[in-house]
Order: sequence, then structure tokens, then C-alpha cells
Amino acid sequence: MTVPDPFADLLPAETASPAETVALGRRLAARLQPGDVLALYGDLGAGKTHLVKGLCDGLGIAPETVSSPTFTLLNEYDGVLPVYHFDAYRIERPEEFFELGYEDYFFGDGVTVIEWPERVAALIPEHAVRLRLRHAGGDVRQIEAAR
Ligand code: ADP
Ligand code: MG
Repeated sequence: MTVPDPFADLLPAETASPAETVALGRRLAARLQPGDVLALYGDLGAGKTHLVKGLCDGLGIAPETVSSPTFTLLNEYDGVLPVYHFDAYRIERPEEFFELGYEDYFFGDGVTVIEWPERVAALIPEHAVRLRLRHAGGDVRQIEAAR
């Protein structure tokens, strides 16, 4: 089944600074709907959290309040839509996601964004939009739809 790509005209993209990645996130945010799930793949420092800052900014959430929930697994922000920001980098057992009640978020009415989705691969819903961020030398980052 082909999931329609809400970002088809915006991606792939290349950014040359953290500010440009935040700006890209703001443009992507304009497309988001309640219930959307974004899985952000990419190495440490690829710019996932900067993209989330932009997504949040676009939804009326101050970007400086956004940081990777590396140790807490989940940050919640209140914007035009609620944003559920997951980071599975340090997850040790999948049960930790169940204990959080992740389904209420993934299948809820806010926007869910997940950093390190590969760590909880089996839990990523079918309807998730998958994006990949890549280091492309210096401060350049490539962002594209992943499959
Ligand atoms: P991740 O969440 O993928 O680990 P972050 O967004 O936390 O990545 O960090 C990205 C790091 O790379 C920051 O230190 C940022 O200043 C730096 N950086 C350099 N160029 C870019 C760019 N084009 N986009 C995003 N971050 C960049
Ligand atoms: Mg991060």
C-alpha cells in the first residue's frame, strides 16, 4: 500500500545550518494533521532534534523548550496540536514503551515524533511517515522520505 507523502514537494531537501533545518521543520509542520506520526531516522547529530524544534515552532511551541527526551523517552509540548516527542535512543526494553502507554500517543489526536525509531521498530505504526536525515559533510544535512 502506498501512503500518500504529505511532504512530496518539500523533500528531499538539503540544509546548510541548524537554522535551515529548523526552518524546514516549520514548513513541514504546516502539513501536519492530528494523529500524524513521524519517524525520524538518522545518526547522532544528524539534526533530528533540530527538525523537531522547527516542527514545534510551526505548531506554536517555543523551539528552545524542545530537547531530545533521551533519558525520559517522552516530552510533551502543547501547541496548536499537542506534540509527543519520543527518543528511543536509550531504551533498554520494549516494555518501557508499553509502560508509558505509547499507544495513547501513537494513535491519539496529537502529532507524534520519534527519534531512533529503529530501536522500537516493531511498534512504529503502519501510517507513520518515515524521514531520514544524513550528514553530508560539514554542516550540510540531507533530509528525505525513507522507506
Ligand atoms: P540529533 O537529534 O539527530 O542527534 P541534533 O539536532 O540534536 O541531532 O544535533 C545536530 C547537531 O549538528 C547540532 O550540534 C547542530 O548544531 C549541528 N548541525 C550542524 N549543521 C546542521 C544542520 N544543517 N542541521 C541540523 N543540525 C546541524
Ligand atoms: Mg536528538
